[in-house]
Amino acid sequence: MGIEKIIIVGGGTAGWMAAAALSRLNKPGRALSITLVESEQIGTVGVGEATIPPFVDFNSLLGVTEQEMMAAAQATFKLGIQFVNWGNQGDSYIHPFGAYGYTMGGISFMQVWHKFRELGDKRPIQVFNVETMAAHFGKFSRTADYTRDDLPPVNYAYHLDAGRYAAFLRQLAHSRGVVRREGRVNDVAVDGESGFVTSITLDDGHTLEGDLFIDCSGFRGLLIEQALETGYEDWSHWLPCNRAVALPCNRDDGSPPSPFTRATAHSAGWQWHVPLQHRNGNGHVYCSEYMGDDEAHGILVGNLAGKPTADPNFLRFTTGRRKKFWNRNVVALGLSAGFMEPLESTSIHLINTGIDKLMAMLSLDGITPAMESTFNRLTGKEYARIRDFLILHYNATQRDDSEFWNYCRNMSVPDTLTEKMEIFRTNGLVFREEDELFTETSWAAVMMGQGIAMQGHNPMADVLDPAATRKELDEMEKSIRFLISQMPTHEQYVSKYCPAP
Ligand code: FAD
Repeated sequence: MGIEKIIIVGGGTAGWMAAAALSRLNKPGRALSITLVESEQIGTVGVGEATIPPFVDFNSLLGVTEQEMMAAAQATFKLGIQFVNWGNQGDSYIHPFGAYGYTMGGISFMQVWHKFRELGDKRPIQVFNVETMAAHFGKFSRTADYTRDDLPPVNYAYHLDAGRYAAFLRQLAHSRGVVRREGRVNDVAVDGESGFVTSITLDDGHTLEGDLFIDCSGFRGLLIEQALETGYEDWSHWLPCNRAVALPCNRDDGSPPSPFTRATAHSAGWQWHVPLQHRNGNGHVYCSEYMGDDEAHGILVGNLAGKPTADPNFLRFTTGRRKKFWNRNVVALGLSAGFMEPLESTSIHLINTGIDKLMAMLSLDGITPAMESTFNRLTGKEYARIRDFLILHYNATQRDDSEFWNYCRNMSVPDTLTEKMEIFRTNGLVFREEDELFTETSWAAVMMGQGIAMQGHNPMADVLDPAATRKELDEMEKSIRFLISQMPTHEQYVSKYCPAP
């Protein structure tokens, strides 16, 4: 059966990202209609403002420029995440988006750096990373601005206002022929034989038929769960936080927006700080078993840099994933597919990669079982690798100041993660598995930042000539410091490059 009618249920970030991307398939003479249904009465979660570097390419898929997107969403740049109080209270480190150094003589930089530590070179690894150094000095520039080609690249993502971003996408999708229907879906019809969803009915009695349905209805999973009963894999035993309270605040204190997200650990969770052009996004993620809503709200308010600009938004979630992301003719994107807390800003990323895969596989001739199983297998792997990386942040800690941290420090973790930590401890190696999102530097930054020290290095590092290698290290540090000295401040860059209209 061919695909002529695509129905998207839900108009949050996931729904409008899908609508804007799919709208590119519209062309004169093609019998394709795309309809998005959303309910203003139900609303959206209204959070989700920090992204990671692969998202930069989403602008190309949409056919928009970075500058127009950033201006519309009052966005800023993000070079990484600063983690405060995670390994121990008082600790701080940055997980940067670019690599520590570069491979030398075919040997990973981590190995070279450790070898030189043993030889008495006490420079921290951070001085060999552009993003960490720029973040430290509040500087920013894009690689495209350089006049010299011997300088390292800058890897970045965005902080964006979720509401404004959705409005931008909505306008874009509308201009490319996507039809928006306001209304609450009251009924979902499923074909008894094929198990395919055939239509949805709105509260005004109107029925919309479709060939392909994209479930972007949020945590409730209206089609994927309520209609198709796909099932959910619960990961709370590894990632026990299950509540959040979000509270945006103004930037009246005059502090410039930092080019990084901050994640500050508290006694039963952590607080995010996401600087935008016009305000800061803040929230506290916590575990209800160890902390009540009032206490969580109190901690958040006590640690805000500005005055709240809205009422607190309390949210509940269960960490995990849908057993299938694509079931028959329903593809779940966003919160309806699963949820992992925003510690490494991976949710919008997973929407993005879900759309990429869907668009790459989509044939207007119809859906095949191979498409469904390939999509599910690839997405499942992405979720599992991200899950392990998040668990690392909780498990690799020396904190023993609360029951929550005692639980996290002592919990058993997936074997895949145990092995990763063990290999890193032995000789600082990180193997990137199955095209996983997080890089060697990502894993190393969190492990070292939270107290997992490399005990040795790969013997290959011993074959490098010490004098020549030291010279190369000196040059690397010098070129990074030169680059940072030439960069404008992040605030100056944003106000020139993509000011809000
Ligand atoms: P929603 O925003 O919930 O949208 C659901 C849509 O479905 C709405 O339009 C609703 O009206 C509609 N709907 C539901 N039921 C019906 C019905 N019966 N009839 C009609 N319409 C219906 N992600 C990141 O990448 N970075 C972050 O920093 C980040 N921070 C987060 C912090 C928290 C506390 C949480 C909970 C999430 C965070 N996320 C983050 C995730 C991010 O917010 C979501 O991935 C993103 O907003 C997508 O949400 P959604 O569109 O799937 O769902």
